[in-house]
Amino acid sequence: MSELLSCFKRCGIEPEEVQGGSLVVRSPIDGAELARLHETPASAMNEIIARSKAAFVQWRTVPAPVRGELVRLWGEELRSAKRDIGHVVSLEAGKIVEEGLGEVQEGVDICEFAMGQSRQLCGKTIVSERPGHRIMEQYHPLGPVAVITAFNFPSAVFAWNAALALVCGDPVIFKPSEKAPLSGLATFRALERAIARFGDRAPAGLAQIVIGKAPLAEALVESPLIPLVSATGSTRMGRSVGPKVASRFGKRILELGGNNGMIVTPAADLDMALRAILFGAVATAGQRCTSLRRLIVHRSVKEALLEKLLKAYAGLRIGDPLVPGTLVGPLIDEAAYVAMQKAMAEAKAQGGRVLAGGERVLEKEFPKGFYVQPAIVDMPQQTAIVRQETFAPLLYVLAYDDFAQAIDLHNDVPQGLSSCIFSNDMREVETFISAAGSDCGMANVNIGPNGAEIGGAFGGEKETGGDRESGSDAWKQYMRRSTNTINFSTELPLAQGITFV
Ligand code: NAD
Repeated sequence: MSELLSCFKRCGIEPEEVQGGSLVVRSPIDGAELARLHETPASAMNEIIARSKAAFVQWRTVPAPVRGELVRLWGEELRSAKRDIGHVVSLEAGKIVEEGLGEVQEGVDICEFAMGQSRQLCGKTIVSERPGHRIMEQYHPLGPVAVITAFNFPSAVFAWNAALALVCGDPVIFKPSEKAPLSGLATFRALERAIARFGDRAPAGLAQIVIGKAPLAEALVESPLIPLVSATGSTRMGRSVGPKVASRFGKRILELGGNNGMIVTPAADLDMALRAILFGAVATAGQRCTSLRRLIVHRSVKEALLEKLLKAYAGLRIGDPLVPGTLVGPLIDEAAYVAMQKAMAEAKAQGGRVLAGGERVLEKEFPKGFYVQPAIVDMPQQTAIVRQETFAPLLYVLAYDDFAQAIDLHNDVPQGLSSCIFSNDMREVETFISAAGSDCGMANVNIGPNGAEIGGAFGGEKETGGDRESGSDAWKQYMRRSTNTINFSTELPLAQGITFV
């Protein structure tokens, strides 16, 4: 058996599953075919959704801390398969080894978080205005949750959603990205092994996966039997999914595109900023939703910072992400490369000056892999192209003169995912994270915009979707809240002092 098939097998993916299907999966590393997966027929979707609904009726009555035990087991399975699943992520999404492993670690972390949360699914007790009365809130399981994911976090985003959904009492139906379904499948298989260990307290159909393209996801989006759709991907996808879910009064978690900025002020530690810019702009070849795309730097430090940055960019090790020491792997496909070239041409037409990169590299070694030299483009102002998300290592630099202008520039884009400031000036820092500062879902101080921990709520405002997942109280979205007013008196007083008969 080939090394590839052995790795799949260790992940629980059998050879016959990756052969003879219609969904061709290629590695962005060299364009080699990794698998031909069998797509889930559209005609099977009704039954899959019905199975999930039936599983819900049983799963919602399992005590939450017992449900937490299942997720604990999933964390164990992910931990022991970390190397193999991480390898599949690298092969399929082109992430360097460290980032592939880090992605699986996020799954382990959210399982541990969700297990603890399973003992804390609590509402408030509220005093009543009426004597002998008490008000309380309970959080109850919601129903089947559809999880639709993007190619660039093909393992972690499923875990973020499913770990919480499962402890909250909800079955899951997972539709991984068609560009990276193997990582999703490997992560899902770890969950299936956990379910097998958990035994018959888990109903059939508790977790299901469907393999295919966008139309398959649409069946989940449109089904009234699915009260929550969690969809991660482009704003284009969100524009289609959001209204459809809303039209049937479903709930949604939309995690869409970002256009993340960093403000570097004269009071910044430039060496620290430099390291954060590098990880922010070129890690995952600029293909993180939280990648740094706009550097807003005070004119007085711009030259010094750019000098350091250009030197660092010149030494970036670009290449096969599986080779130790590589920092920048490939773009996901040719379309991503074409989109980057188009954005650079537009930036130039809009007055931009290319300071570094943008060109394709390693073409001879990898004729079917799309590697680029990460680009830096100095822009005279925040033009139309800067206000768009280009999913590639393309960093725009904008100069500012006063701090209020920096914040205005920062916020003047349609997206609102992540943001950061580098400054040791307490007034600048506090202003940036205040109500009058960054309008993003995440605003960091002296760290970059990317690489979030699972403990905080993750997500963004404006065209990023407005929702949150992962840590903090994101679990509440996977439950329905019930407000209960309890009368333990012998009278029946009405609220607001109303007398009625
Ligand atoms: P994409 O929008 O092309 O696809 C994402 C998923 O949505 C896939 O599973 C796809 O099959 C499905 N899909 C696409 N159109 C659909 C439709 N009309 N109805 C239902 N499902 C549909 O995104 P991508 O290229 O895989 O990922 C890159 C994008 O994802 C970037 O914009 C990035 O910023 C964003 N992203 C956001 C977050 C976040 O948390 N905010 C995280 C990761 C990626």
